[in-house]
Amino acid sequence: MNSNEFHPTWPRLYGLQTSDGNELLAGTIYCIGRNFADHAAEMQAPIPSEPLVFTKPIGSLLMGAEATVNLPAQSQDVHHEVEWVVALSKGGKHISMEQAWCHVAGWAVGIDFTARDLQAAAKKAGKPWAVSKGFDGFAPVSPFIPVSIGKKPTHQNPADQNPESYKHLQLKLLVNGQLRQQDLLSNMLFDLPTLISHLSDLFTLRAGDIIFTGTPSGVSQVQAGDHCSASIHQPNGETLAQLDVYLEAAS
Ligand code: MG
Repeated sequence: MNSNEFHPTWPRLYGLQTSDGNELLAGTIYCIGRNFADHAAEMQAPIPSEPLVFTKPIGSLLMGAEATVNLPAQSQDVHHEVEWVVALSKGGKHISMEQAWCHVAGWAVGIDFTARDLQAAAKKAGKPWAVSKGFDGFAPVSPFIPVSIGKKPTHQNPADQNPESYKHLQLKLLVNGQLRQQDLLSNMLFDLPTLISHLSDLFTLRAGDIIFTGTPSGVSQVQAGDHCSASIHQPNGETLAQLDVYLEAAS
């Protein structure tokens, strides 16, 4: 074998499987903007009439309970956006809302880091958001929790028993121990079946595709030295997913 041969490595979604039992590799990172009314309001932006879709490059993805993110030199105003993140076990086109949960491999908590100054300039100039959302490490996600619809539950996961019960889960984000964001998934303007169905009408989805489902209000600036603690909780306060991100200066 030629040692100079290019061997691409693609991130594996550890703990998750495709619908036919194979390991799951990360695919496209889809993101939903303004999916909580309070966040649209704080951005002084209208509530979208259909899901607002953008994507992130695969290099933005970091997986694990802890991550270190270097702030990009191009931005002076990076914001945290805590989000519920879902990974697909199988793809498809024109997936119905009724079938949507059958395409879900698992879920996690993640942060959609955003260079707000670059995004604002892009919006004003009518340019895409891609750069402001896509820097290396701008999509860290916690370890995934598998769902097993129609199978014997393997986790203390409410969605194992009832796909609708995820709506009672709570997103939370602290910066240096101070609460900045907190909301219920039930306050999403477009719920998960709607998002999967909508995305699959636009694009052919694939196993391993990841969906950032939108952030509640309370986004704020992070700086080098900050520690972001993102989590998802049961109604009784039990933590189901946890992600700790440490911000460092531009390298
Ligand atoms: Mg977001």
